[in-house]
Amino acid sequence: MIFTHATVLTMNDRREIIDDGAVVVSGDRIEAVGKTADLLAGHSDHDEIDLRGHIVLPGLVNTHVHTAQCMLRGVSEGKRLGDFSEWLFGRIFPLQGSYTEEDGLASASLCVLEMIKSGTTGFVECLLAEQYGFDGIAEMCVESGIRAALGKIAMDVSPEKRDELGWHMGMWQTRESSIEGTIAAHDRWDGAGDGRLQVWFGCRSAEPAGNPTLYDEVSEVARERDMGITIHLAEFPPDNDYAREQGYRSHIEFAHGHGLLGPRTVLAHCTIADDADHRLLAATGTTVSHNPGNNAAAAWPAAPVGDMLAAGVNVAMGCDGAPSNANSDLLRDLRIACHIARGRAGSRLGLGSETVLEMATLNGARALGIDDQVGSIEAGKKADFITIDTDAPHLQPVWNPVATVVFAAQGGDVDTVVIDGRIVMQGRKVLTMDEAAILDDVRGRFHAVAERAGVEGIESEWPIT
Ligand SMILES: [Zn+2]
Repeated sequence: MIFTHATVLTMNDRREIIDDGAVVVSGDRIEAVGKTADLLAGHSDHDEIDLRGHIVLPGLVNTHVHTAQCMLRGVSEGKRLGDFSEWLFGRIFPLQGSYTEEDGLASASLCVLEMIKSGTTGFVECLLAEQYGFDGIAEMCVESGIRAALGKIAMDVSPEKRDELGWHMGMWQTRESSIEGTIAAHDRWDGAGDGRLQVWFGCRSAEPAGNPTLYDEVSEVARERDMGITIHLAEFPPDNDYAREQGYRSHIEFAHGHGLLGPRTVLAHCTIADDADHRLLAATGTTVSHNPGNNAAAAWPAAPVGDMLAAGVNVAMGCDGAPSNANSDLLRDLRIACHIARGRAGSRLGLGSETVLEMATLNGARALGIDDQVGSIEAGKKADFITIDTDAPHLQPVWNPVATVVFAAQGGDVDTVVIDGRIVMQGRKVLTMDEAAILDDVRGRFHAVAERAGVEGIESEWPIT
C-alpha cells in the first residue's frame, strides 16, 4: 500500500514534516517515507490510498487505562462524593465488583473501540481483575488489532483490612492467586497477536491497606520474566505520609526500595513527586504516565510535568478511567496537558505542542518497551500511524500541523488508523470490531450492573420527566 498526498509528521530524529508526503507500507513495516512524487514512481504496483487534506502522525499510546471503568462513564457526577474513600469503596468498587465476565468484556470492548476511533494504537491497562475474564478481553484486544499491555491485578490486602474498609468482595483476591493468575496469563498470552499483546503486573496502589512485601515479590518475578509493571504512585499527599511511616522519604523512594522502579515500569500520576524523586525516576529509566484530564477532574494537584521532563524522566500520556475523565480520547487530553502546564507555570512558554506530541507517541512507545519498533514514521519501523482529516471548519486553516493536531483536532477527526501494517479503521469505520453490536450490548447492561451493585446517587440531579 502507498498512502499519498498527506502532510506527514514523521517524528524522526530531525522531526521532519513532509508536505505532500507519502508512506509506503509492506506487510507490517514502513518501507519508505518521502515526497509523494518521488515515491509513487517507484511503487506504482502498490494500492494507492489518497490522503489529500490529511495529516498523518504516529499512532497515539495511552499509557493509563482502566478498561473496566469505561462502562462507568458519568457515575461520579449526579451526587458527587468529595471523599476519595467514599467514592472508591462506596461507588466504584461496588459497581466494578458486580461485573460478570460479560460485563467486563463489554466495557473493555467499548474502551478499545473508543480508543481506536480517537487514534490510539497502543495502551496500558493498569488494573484488570480476574473476574472480568482475562482470556476474553485478551482475545478481543488481539482481534481488534490494537497493541495492548494488559496489567493484571496483583494485590495483598488481608481479609480483616478488606472488611474494615468495606472493600467489595468482587474486587478482592488473595496475594497468591493474584500473582499466580498473572503468571499464568503471561504464559498464555504474552506475545499474542504477532507480538502486539503484552501481559504485565497491574499492582494495586501502595497504601496503608496493602502489604508492601507484595512489591518485592512482584518486581522479582517481573525481572525474571522481563514483564512490565504498572501502578498508581505518588498520586496525592497522603501517599508521602504513608511512605514516611514505612521509613522512606517519599512514595517514589518507597517504590524504589521495593524494586518497582526501572525501564519496564509505568507509574501513573506522580503528581506529588519532587525534584529528588524526578532525578531517581530519570536515573532508573522509569516512565511516568501523566493524566492531566483525570487529575483535574479528581481534584488532584497538577503534576509538575515541566520539571519531570527537564530532569530527563520519560513522561508519557494517559487518560485514566471514565468515572473521572469520561473519555479515552487522548487527542483531547494533549491540549489539557498544555493548558494545565501553562497555568501552573504562569506562562505561555510552558509545555509546547511539540513536546506533548512526543509524550503521546515516542515516549509512549518507550513505555511499552517498543520504541525501536513504533512511535515515529520511519522506514524499517512497524506501520502504526493515524490520519486526521482537516477538511472541517474547526481545523482550517492549517498554519502549523502540530498545533492543529494538539490544540484543534478531536478524536472524532481521526479518519484512518493503521496498526502493524493493517488498516484497522478507514473513513471512520472500524473494520475489526462490530461497533453497533458493542454499543447495543453496553446500553443493555449498565442499569443491570448498577441495580446488582445497589449503588445510588448516579442519576441526574435534575428531574428527568
Ligand atoms: Zn488510574
